[in-house]
Amino acid sequence: MKLTVIGFWGGYPKKNGASSGYLLEHDGFHLLIDCGSGVLSKLQNIIQPEELDAVLISHYHPDHIADIGVLQHARLIQGFLGEKPPTLPIYGHQFDEAEYSKLTYKDITSGIAYQPSDILTVGPFQVAFLKTEHPVPCYAMRIVAGGKSLVYTADGSFKEELIEFSREADLLLCECNFFGHQNGKSAGHMNSIEAGQFAEKSAVKQLILTHLPQYGELSELVRESSTEFTGIIKLADEFLTISL
Ligand code: ZN
Repeated sequence: MKLTVIGFWGGYPKKNGASSGYLLEHDGFHLLIDCGSGVLSKLQNIIQPEELDAVLISHYHPDHIADIGVLQHARLIQGFLGEKPPTLPIYGHQFDEAEYSKLTYKDITSGIAYQPSDILTVGPFQVAFLKTEHPVPCYAMRIVAGGKSLVYTADGSFKEELIEFSREADLLLCECNFFGHQNGKSAGHMNSIEAGQFAEKSAVKQLILTHLPQYGELSELVRESSTEFTGIIKLADEFLTISL
């Protein structure tokens, strides 16, 4: 499977950037994971909105869902202009009924509730979920396709269960909203040291730090994580691609 980072800022996008959005491709299937602010604009550098086959949402904070509405508009308008795209399935949890209901729009998109205790099949992807420590219900995902595994932590402070959940994943896409000297726990986020320790204990092959702060020297995050994790560490960046 191939991962392309579309947006990686935590909370809000820095100038000309985008907050959370990750495109996963396998066997010609295009799955967008989270759809934050700026994602629809950035996505069009890689594929067109009508080429998406499914969307999967971790939680309903604005930096993860802000562009759902404009994605719906894009599919609607493309339908007027040419061939009407099929109804786009948007998978989200049902523990916030008001937000979940917004995933459905006319026959343009259709909200589908995932049950976090079950494995979800989306195209060629098998997705397992783990509830995170975050101010609102949020789910980390372990995504498997073609014999490879990617864990996306979504948002959340460190919890022990993450270690087993992420065990020996080929790639850990880990939120890292704080520098090592900061405590992110009350905000429901991890810092760079925690991300490194978590990656090391899980024995993942590769760590990508994402959901990044808008301040400070970001290369410090990698340096701090590398004091704990001996594997490959990268900073998320616009259009960074990783093939597994
Ligand atoms: Zn959040």
